[in-house]
Amino acid sequence: MNIKNLISQMSLEEKASLCSGLGFWHTKPIERLGIPSIMMTDGPHGLRKQEKEGFGKSVPATCFPTAVTLASSWDRKLIEKVGSAIGEECQAEGVSIILGPGVNIKRSPLCGRNFEYYSEDPFLASEMALYYIKGVQSQGVGTSIKHFCANNQEHRRLTVNVIVDERTLREIYLASFEKAVKEGNPWTVMCAYNKVNGEYCSENAYLLSNILREEWGFEGFVVSDWGAVNDRVKGLLAGLDLQMPYDGGLGDRKIIEAVKKGELPEEVLDKAVERILRVVFKAIENKKENATYDKKAHHKLAREVARECFVLLKNEDEILPLKKKGTIALIGAFAKTPRYQGLGSSHVNPTLDTAYEEILNKVEGKVEILYADGYRLDSDVVDEKLIAEAKEIAKRSEVAVIFAGLPEKYESEGYDRDHMKMPENHNRLIEEVSKVQKNLVVVLSNGAPVEMPWIDRVKGILETYLGGQGWGGAVADVLFGVVSPSGKLAETFPKKLSDNPSYLNFPGEDDRVEYREGIFVGYRYYDKKEMEVLFPFGYGLSYTTFEYSDLRLDKKEMTDQDTLRVSVKVKNTGKMPGKEVVQLYVRDVESSVIRPEKELKGFEKVELISGEEKEVVFTLDKRAFAYYDVELKDWHVESGEYEILVGKSSRDIVLKDTIYVKSTVQIRKKFHRNSTIGDVMKDPVASEVFKPMIQQFIERHPIFASSEKNVIKMFTEMMKYMPLRNLISFSNGALTEEMLESIIQRMNQRKD
Ligand code: BGC
Repeated sequence: MNIKNLISQMSLEEKASLCSGLGFWHTKPIERLGIPSIMMTDGPHGLRKQEKEGFGKSVPATCFPTAVTLASSWDRKLIEKVGSAIGEECQAEGVSIILGPGVNIKRSPLCGRNFEYYSEDPFLASEMALYYIKGVQSQGVGTSIKHFCANNQEHRRLTVNVIVDERTLREIYLASFEKAVKEGNPWTVMCAYNKVNGEYCSENAYLLSNILREEWGFEGFVVSDWGAVNDRVKGLLAGLDLQMPYDGGLGDRKIIEAVKKGELPEEVLDKAVERILRVVFKAIENKKENATYDKKAHHKLAREVARECFVLLKNEDEILPLKKKGTIALIGAFAKTPRYQGLGSSHVNPTLDTAYEEILNKVEGKVEILYADGYRLDSDVVDEKLIAEAKEIAKRSEVAVIFAGLPEKYESEGYDRDHMKMPENHNRLIEEVSKVQKNLVVVLSNGAPVEMPWIDRVKGILETYLGGQGWGGAVADVLFGVVSPSGKLAETFPKKLSDNPSYLNFPGEDDRVEYREGIFVGYRYYDKKEMEVLFPFGYGLSYTTFEYSDLRLDKKEMTDQDTLRVSVKVKNTGKMPGKEVVQLYVRDVESSVIRPEKELKGFEKVELISGEEKEVVFTLDKRAFAYYDVELKDWHVESGEYEILVGKSSRDIVLKDTIYVKSTVQIRKKFHRNSTIGDVMKDPVASEVFKPMIQQFIERHPIFASSEKNVIKMFTEMMKYMPLRNLISFSNGALTEEMLESIIQRMNQRKD
């Protein structure tokens, strides 16, 4: 298809028309030129294809676990499989682009859409997104990675201005997109509603053109989040191609007018049209006629995926897996009416497993199952009668399992939570049942961290997050040990909300939120502050045990241009088969810039039968050691030692070693009369020029003749922070302005 040729045949009006949608979910066709229309719909964890325009009922589709759940699997291949299954469903429904994945960072546990996002860590988030994209796009269906960028709250999401410093933006908020965009080549990127540093994302040339296209090489089109356009012409100039949904032609008319007035070069419009058409034709080429998918197989996959994601948070006295004998009390309305997905644009219309039925199937008459609702689904108010019923059946059982968490209205697109608590009727139920039954397990369904005031009163906690339509079966499988849980938290559970680093600045004042915690998001903050948390990032138990040994680095020294091979052996030392997520963190031992204690730079999930051992290999390149240097405008590695930390979670590092990395980039500081003596002396070249002068100064200055060691120490320390100009006044005329100027010139020249 010669797209440039097609564009040359279009009128200005036709070109402008292609830059906004046809209704809610389609691009516009131009029949006379044979340009078709394609459909894009939500996701991302299942298809939400509306039966009619707008936000009505959607066609049935498989509801996979939501992003927070999927990320807890730490399993790239698993997410790729999910993506590929969703891609198949898109083909079967004639959908060309699915609107996801969502990779925004979980800055606060309160963000209403945290269930739709992967992690507090950009490395993990970007890896998960990359494999989701690979999976979907392997089916000839496009993705729309979203929401670009720094859309970390729902509160005032359409108008809020996120004030964030450049290093934080690069290391945290852009980093969750970067690898997925560079390596996954998503067909489209969805720009966010909010502003970043004063400019709406939909008209932010720095984000959409300089970073996304020029630096990262993105070649697809940028689509606005639904209703994110503020100034259509400015948006187009900045790099926003497609406006969604259709706004009655308002945007198109503004584009036409601006071109006619000479305010918008027609080439800019041509480029946007070209980008849109390239994707449209790619979608058409990849369309599979009469595609279908196997609903049963996808449901089975949803169940298998879910059980790989659940995180076992507590397992005292090995209460889990449950024994198939005696009487088990199942308590909590979630057992029969699961909470398995979030509210908002990602809501899927699925078939469903309930834990209650799946558990009944599993025990098949071997176990007596008793059931009580425990709480009402439509109210948070404690119902004493329901609690009494629950206590009654718990008393008569060997073990009780309570299904609790957050009801749907607690977390949704469109608003944030204002606390981290579970409803009072769920908390009270757990508390009361624990008084009559010590063998108590809590199965949680929630999209983000919650406080657990009852944690010491229960023996087992299984975090199932929002597990999709196979949730019930997956819960039964994990509770009865068909599989060992292998999920690990992709976020920290703080003890209380006020421990969270964003607490003082979330959700901001009016339309302004400042990310004052900077790069210290999630475990980067809790680790640096040495704070106790409820459950750390990367944490999760198993029914089996793993031992790590033989950590090896293939070198002791390298430059920032080399790669490092790290290997470690992991053995299943328990009685059950299981999977372990081996995590690799890097710590900069000594740094001139402020850095986190450690950062995740590698992870692998390995499957091991009892007694089996495998070697896990990681390859680390420059980025694993680098920080973003705002003066260099690039990633930079300081020469020095770095620790390679390998562990079971961010707080359970079991092996470590050290590598020396030598920088190949000299940061070239320009010296001036207000540079400090300390800074000059730290620079190997400048200090050579400067040493004779400082030597003379020391020899001549009476203070250094003092026999008082402390005085000399004090003065030496003070001199470190003294600007060069002070040497003139302290030199009693021996040093002049001209002399200093010429020395500074030599210091700077020698460096050039
Ligand atoms: C959401 C997007 C979604 C779009 C289309 C917006 O409100 O922020 O994530 O893809 O609607 O439904």
